[in-house]
Amino acid sequence: MDLTDFGAGAQYIAGRQTRGSGEPFQVVNPADGSVVEQVALATAADVDTAVAAARAALPGWSSATPGARSEALTRLAAVLADAADDLARVETAQTGKPVKLATEFDVPGTVDNAAFFAGAARNLEGKAAGEYSGDHTSYVRREAIGVVGSISPWNYPLQMAAWKILPAIAAGNTIVLKPAELTPLTSLMFARACTEAGIPDGVVNVVTGAGRTAGEHLVSHPGVAMVSFTGSTAVGKRVAELATASVKRTHLELGGKAPFVVFDDADLDAAVHGAVAASLINGGQDCTAATRAYVQRPLYDAFVAGVAELYAAIRIGDPRDPRTDLGPLVSYAHRDRVAGFVERARSYATVVTGGPAPAKGHDGSDLTRGAYFAPTLITGAAQDSEVVQGEVFGPVLVVLPFDGDDEGLRLANDTPYGLAASAWTGNVHRSLRATREIAAGCVWVNDHIPIISEMPHGGYKASGYGKDMSQYSLDEYTQVKHVMFDTTAVARKDWHRTVFGDR
Ligand code: NAD
Repeated sequence: MDLTDFGAGAQYIAGRQTRGSGEPFQVVNPADGSVVEQVALATAADVDTAVAAARAALPGWSSATPGARSEALTRLAAVLADAADDLARVETAQTGKPVKLATEFDVPGTVDNAAFFAGAARNLEGKAAGEYSGDHTSYVRREAIGVVGSISPWNYPLQMAAWKILPAIAAGNTIVLKPAELTPLTSLMFARACTEAGIPDGVVNVVTGAGRTAGEHLVSHPGVAMVSFTGSTAVGKRVAELATASVKRTHLELGGKAPFVVFDDADLDAAVHGAVAASLINGGQDCTAATRAYVQRPLYDAFVAGVAELYAAIRIGDPRDPRTDLGPLVSYAHRDRVAGFVERARSYATVVTGGPAPAKGHDGSDLTRGAYFAPTLITGAAQDSEVVQGEVFGPVLVVLPFDGDDEGLRLANDTPYGLAASAWTGNVHRSLRATREIAAGCVWVNDHIPIISEMPHGGYKASGYGKDMSQYSLDEYTQVKHVMFDTTAVARKDWHRTVFGDR
């Protein structure tokens, strides 16, 4: 099956590509403005059809043995691995991310996730059955929740589809995923790969509509039992409101503003390289990207100089060129949003380097046609300023000095977000204190960014709740039922005294 044959459709419902009944929409390559694919957006009626397909598939899939689900996911990992080149190419075309990132991170990470959940599907955990009351045997059933309505963002479309779909279906749920309208293509490819792997029709459905219409309809849909959302905190609040109104379980992976805390005993070279890589990965459009570096005073000047030097050597250019380090941002509108943060910062801080991209890329390509923005280093911003507190979601790093350890850790925690953070030090006590005191769902020590299928990803504070990846995410997509058997065979149970007294 050629996963890149999108036909006229942009919906994947009940194992078939269908055409959305809404507005036409162009998926645009932000490197040059060319049209990658013309799709028709989903309307509320398309969402209804997809939810009906997922409901129809639920009894069969939720009652399949874990072994059968595991085998299907193992085959899915193989289908995705076979399609690796196409997945990387389409991911780069629709997002503008460097093909080396898509090839070395997005696609293998997705294949590995499928392989992980193939194993995890057979390892649902619960308390041992036993006589916790003298008169009964109790056990726990871990059951699927039902149809999951999922909504994903544009920054890692393929990986986000995987993070949403895999734990949901591994646990026996069926799903309707609505990817971001800007970047629907690799989610559609993922759904087709599920069919190719023998996952029954209707278990995985993708609708590619707009957030306000298709997204809100999906989240509010009475046929949906759980809502799993990844995106901005602002939209997450709206999604939570709608889902709560119909008492759906919610799982929210929201925005981030990760601190990067460099203590004065840190390996400066490692911290500088770490900050550059962690702030520029995926053009900084990464919810865990390093955005605020707090550097203890003795290392501050050298750190700023080191980052500025490496930023100047970053190769900006056509993302299809495997030598390119930094491609365009996902869209012209998003590039302008990032530029707005930087332009406003000029009035209250120092833009050491960066801003609008040069006209020519490292490869001679014409950058004026794309949504490019240069790596941007800002110093001198106040802690309460917009660029320190707000989620810029671009290749922008703010560096601020601190004196004592207390101050560094306090500043690290001083935003509404709590998704990820890192601490840079050779001192075991400092690192232990930082990992304990920084309020974030992930704290790295002497690195920043790596993720792994076995470990949970998810936020604290305004970064949301619930975990993606890992065994923990399977828990999110199951509900626990207590089953209790009487072992006495006695008609008049002891506890009946609370009703009948001595009679
Ligand atoms: P976004 O919140 O604008 O959109 C996310 C999704 O929500 C899209 O599919 C969009 O169509 C949909 N949507 C928009 N309005 C909606 C509504 N009213 N009802 C239902 N759905 C609606 O986010 P984005 O710009 O696509 O992605 C960037 C954001 O995602 C950043 O804030 C980033 O931090 C966050 N993110 C978080 C994680 C994480 O794991 N915590 C991972 C990746 C991205």
